[in-house]
Amino acid sequence: MMIVKKTSLSHVVKNILFSRNEPVSLVHFITNRCNARCSFCFIDFDNKNTFKGELSLDEIDKMTKTLGKSLLNVNITGGEPFARKDIIDIAKKYIDNTTIQSIYITTNGSLPDRAENFAKEVTNYNKDIELTFQISIDDFPKEHDTVRKIKGLFENCIKTFWRLKKIRNTSPVVSITVTHENCDKIKEIFYYLHNDCKIDAIKCTVVRDEGVYKTPEEKRNKIIKAYDWLTNEIEKLSKKNILLNYNSNSLQGRLHRKKDFISWKLIKKMYLKPHYISMCFAGRLFGVIAANGDIFPCEILEDKKLGNLRDKDMDFHQLWNSKENSDTRSFIKKSKCNCTYECALSYNILGNYRYQLGLLKSAFNLD
Ligand code: SF4
Ligand code: SF4
Repeated sequence: MMIVKKTSLSHVVKNILFSRNEPVSLVHFITNRCNARCSFCFIDFDNKNTFKGELSLDEIDKMTKTLGKSLLNVNITGGEPFARKDIIDIAKKYIDNTTIQSIYITTNGSLPDRAENFAKEVTNYNKDIELTFQISIDDFPKEHDTVRKIKGLFENCIKTFWRLKKIRNTSPVVSITVTHENCDKIKEIFYYLHNDCKIDAIKCTVVRDEGVYKTPEEKRNKIIKAYDWLTNEIEKLSKKNILLNYNSNSLQGRLHRKKDFISWKLIKKMYLKPHYISMCFAGRLFGVIAANGDIFPCEILEDKKLGNLRDKDMDFHQLWNSKENSDTRSFIKKSKCNCTYECALSYNILGNYRYQLGLLKSAFNLD
């Protein structure tokens, strides 16, 4: 990824290392609607208010003009983001109004036509934008369809993966969430995806306690053991270029790969006994936009809402640099806030001096 458009490398680096007052990456939940009903989902589908008040395209247009000059990536997610028919227009607003270089889409993979159409349209609209699709698959076909409660879902996920693989500047990756339901068979699931389905880009996350989901305590040991095995296997196969989660010929790809390896190690250290390792830059370099326009520093601190965009005439900058966020940043620092939330960890690693040498070494193939 070259930082060329509407911003400068020096501005972004200054923000990451010193001022830290503009987001570098945002997670935007464009909808809470979803055609699946996973048992571990954090969305409260029984609450009618869950689906009310989605930001309109015009509101998103206005908001994206106020995101500063450091934003490199937006993670468009949901719910199921392809449940919104105007998702292509939303992506175009980010491309036109912000300095993003990449878009990350998290999808349950149930709508291959919409995903393919999105990738084609967006990469034609802007030839430089890099698209990554994270397609969630957590189990064998029958079990996956049962857990997520959509018939034929596994098959559609695989279809989505292969259709996206053919599109320029588009990288699909299958993501396995290690949960209490799949931790006893994680090796078999991984080999099924890699050997039988020939999937050559596989990542993983560990299930988090969030919203209405709570991990059964007695399963925590098994979950982290499975996650340990899976991350080691993915790291080994990535280093041999058998798994191609990132382009190992590009500096950017090697940087992201190393960032994943560091992040997995940190998660393994913190999962059973949560403790502080390094400063979190949520509310500074990283933030979350909820479907109704509420802004949070991260997905975990639900009680630290910074405010709602509609109350500030859709001006994100006002909320990001508000007294509320200043108090939240102090709280995060003073309380030595810690968790295993991968999205925030990625940007904490990037902004932390102790990891930067390792990242640079990997970027330049020196490790
Ligand atoms: S696919 Fe994602 S958003 Fe939809 S129910 Fe499952 S976990 Fe929730
Ligand atoms: S450590 Fe986790 S919970 Fe705390 S601010 Fe960062 S992302 Fe949020």
